[in-house]
Amino acid sequence: MKATDVKTSVLVVGGGLAGTSAALFLAWRGVDVVLVEKHPGSSPHPRAVGFNARVGELLRAVGLEDELPESRMSRGFGVRRVRAESLVGEKYDETFWTPPAELSDVEYSPVRGVGVAQDRMEPLLRDKARELGADIRMSTRMLEFSQDDDGVTAVVQGDGGEPYEIRADYLVAADGHRSPVREQLGITRTGRGYMHTSRSVLFRAELQQYLKDGIGQFVIDDVGFLTTYGDGRWVLMLDDGEYDEAELRRKIFQAIGRDDLDVEIVTTGKWTISASVADRFSAGRVFLAGDAAHTLPPSRGGFGANVGIEDAHNLAWKLAAVLAGESRAELLDTYDAERRPVATLCHQQIFARNDGHNRDGEAEEATLYDNNAMHFGVLYRSAAVLGAGEDLPPARLPEQWNGQPGTRAPHAWIEPRKSTLDLFQRGWVLVADHPQWEEAAQRAGVACERVEQLDLFGLSEKGASLVRPDGYVAWRSADLPDDPAGALESAFSATSAGTR
Ligand SMILES: Cc1cc2nc3c(=O)[nH]c(=O)nc-3n(C[C@H](O)[C@H](O)[C@H](O)COP(=O)(O)OP(=O)(O)OC[C@H]3O[C@@H](n4cnc5c(N)ncnc54)[C@H](O)[C@@H]3O)c2cc1C
Repeated sequence: MKATDVKTSVLVVGGGLAGTSAALFLAWRGVDVVLVEKHPGSSPHPRAVGFNARVGELLRAVGLEDELPESRMSRGFGVRRVRAESLVGEKYDETFWTPPAELSDVEYSPVRGVGVAQDRMEPLLRDKARELGADIRMSTRMLEFSQDDDGVTAVVQGDGGEPYEIRADYLVAADGHRSPVREQLGITRTGRGYMHTSRSVLFRAELQQYLKDGIGQFVIDDVGFLTTYGDGRWVLMLDDGEYDEAELRRKIFQAIGRDDLDVEIVTTGKWTISASVADRFSAGRVFLAGDAAHTLPPSRGGFGANVGIEDAHNLAWKLAAVLAGESRAELLDTYDAERRPVATLCHQQIFARNDGHNRDGEAEEATLYDNNAMHFGVLYRSAAVLGAGEDLPPARLPEQWNGQPGTRAPHAWIEPRKSTLDLFQRGWVLVADHPQWEEAAQRAGVACERVEQLDLFGLSEKGASLVRPDGYVAWRSADLPDDPAGALESAFSATSAGTR
């Protein structure tokens, strides 16, 4: 072994939002992790800006909530879209990215979605991951990898340095939509495929006064799509073509509807918009996450980065449990079983929703699920869940699920600023309010939390729900069985792929 050779538990390839989140969630769970990213830092042209409240919950759990910059969008701005003559000109009809959510009094989450440009979000995740012990190597490219029964060997190279080997138990490929790792593994993809190519120009201008009534997205007739990152930067998306600076300025002024203000062009972009989902999310010791696993166009849901961050979260606790010897390796099979159907559902919803541009081909006939169902109410069916039958829909609102195993445990305030969700995340938790369950939990080595709002979990005062380390309900017993300890132990052992 050369002096530079490295051993780790998990190697993450790719330092975008999915890979950095994987490193963060793994480090937070105490897993030894190395991340390699070929670029020195985040791209100066952000893509994602809208992070949903479910992702906000995951960031809250790792202590990032207070570090997220206050943004116009987190206060409800910027999420509405209209067709317009120009930013200052006449506004026409509102077009919805997503079906308008049904009015509901239910508070689904302790946090709200946030609008943070990708080039500000990535460093936040990166810094936190490093603080928690992740070894993040920027300007480092993975050149090749191979796997055997015991692990993965990758050859990587830092800027101008000698190639060296990293040996890891597992590899997370978060290497983007072209994913050389996925290609090497021969994993095929299903979906619409290539849709179109877009150009963009990122610019700064004083236009805040035109952001009114929560409208922050403008489909400008004969020009393109104009929106803001909420920090003084704006992006104008254009059809594919070659644009020189004079032409870009002309387009920007046309989109604004004024040419008497200072505009600083920051950079330009070229984007391949495509839609596909990998036919497998893993092969042996390698797991795909983020765009490597699914490319979901940003329109009608902003699923792309959000779904990628949730992949990373789903995978992290499973890898941590298997590496710690608490779970058998079969637990890792539930990653594909749980996350691939979610990506496929997002793909379907994107094409079932009205895109407002009508340029993505045939609309898909499918039940439309509103955002609260997609963010807080997707259903997992896998060996890590008991009681999620094939007859159930893939998504529903949390109050309709009412604590259904396979769905995210419901949120309720249990103290000022403390949510039921804050009880979960670190390990397995039994939610119950009966002394016999408490005893059963102790025997099973599972934490027990008393929660007043048992009705939200679909439980009587004698019932109990077993919640996984990712905050999803694994199993529930609506009432007290004859042998609570036996029932809990067998459910825990089955859903955790327990090694005891
Ligand atoms: C215009 C636009 C707007 C969008 N807006 C939103 C939005 O508002 N909300 C949302 O959720 N999604 C949005 N998306 C989608 C979102 O940007 C992507 O889904 C997300 O950024 C993908 O993250 P990722 O980490 O999976 O992949 P990437 O960001 O592509 O990261 C992959 C990384 O892997 C690195 N890499 C690849 N190969 C190697 C190698 N061999 N060695 C080392 N490093 C390697 C690359 O350099 C890259 O940094 C948008 C997309 C576009 C195009």
